[in-house]
Amino acid sequence: METLIMTLPRRPNTPETVPENAVETRDLCKTYAAEGKDQAKKALIDVTIDIPRGSFFGLLGPNGAGKSTLINILAGLTNRTSGDVRIWGFDIERDMRAARRAIGVVPQELNIDPFFTPRETLELQAGLYGVPKRERRSDEILKAVGLTDQAAVYARRLSGGMRRRLLVAKAMVHSPKVLVLDEPTAGVDVELRRHLWDYVRELNAQGATVLLTTHYLKEAEELCDTIAIINHGRLIACESKKALLGRLDTKEMILTLDRDIEMPPPQLAAFTTVLKSSRRIAVSYPPSRFNSGDVLAALSDAGLGINDVVTREAELEDIFLNLTRSTDGEKT
Ligand code: ADP
Repeated sequence: METLIMTLPRRPNTPETVPENAVETRDLCKTYAAEGKDQAKKALIDVTIDIPRGSFFGLLGPNGAGKSTLINILAGLTNRTSGDVRIWGFDIERDMRAARRAIGVVPQELNIDPFFTPRETLELQAGLYGVPKRERRSDEILKAVGLTDQAAVYARRLSGGMRRRLLVAKAMVHSPKVLVLDEPTAGVDVELRRHLWDYVRELNAQGATVLLTTHYLKEAEELCDTIAIINHGRLIACESKKALLGRLDTKEMILTLDRDIEMPPPQLAAFTTVLKSSRRIAVSYPPSRFNSGDVLAALSDAGLGINDVVTREAELEDIFLNLTRSTDGEKT
């Protein structure tokens, strides 16, 4: 992809004061009505979230957790049952038009009209949002997402990755303050995924708030500065990635010894140990109380030499599994 730089012009509907949070929900609930044999489904239960302005915010949760429901409410596609939602300070009901103008959503499905070209698609979308002709930036946006060469090609001839990029472009035509990406890289190859992230990161660096849902925990770990986790419709964590990762106070060292042992030596009693083979031992410790030197000293006290050491820190996946496991008893 060529240059990824693009500027986000000011929109006339910005409130006088810039809000601290780009998105706020308060006690948000959504219950899908009972239908046929299906019982009523509580998809969101008292969800209160602040998405700080300018953040790269990750919304994580297993399938059926309520992520799409939340995003659809923000996008004005689903009605909430109760609670309040503000986008860029605008109440989604009282100031519906301004709230909608402040948000751009890249949907999960590749729903693009195959009979329009990318340029026509963007112009149409700009028309829907009432962006005056002189303020439209269709070609600039197409360039930013690497679709300049395809600007006049019928969308049905675009590859899956190109369609995905066109959807991102479509969500950008009205220069939204908040860009929502719903599982945007499902089915996108690695290289395209990287391009897409370069572009979204650039938008974030320019001030756009990005809300991302993803199944790829690694992706969230790499990109997001703030992370919320929902499970069974309830918010179970919402904090900075650093604080979240800090919650799991554990580090692991896997040591290859210079000789066979039958059981962990008593000098390691202060740590959690697992003998992986007669020469490999995994040692876990809380970094708030010990460091790797303490482990090495204990092994030295036991008269053991070390041929190799691998260390592993807690990853988002560990926290995610821990948190979702502990709430899995709560069915709604
Ligand atoms: P996620 O996006 O995290 O996979 P969803 O928001 O799609 O979760 O779904 C949350 C829950 O609400 C699920 O149990 C799902 O089956 C249910 N649900 C979603 N949409 C509807 C609907 N239109 N009618 C009834 N139930 C729904």
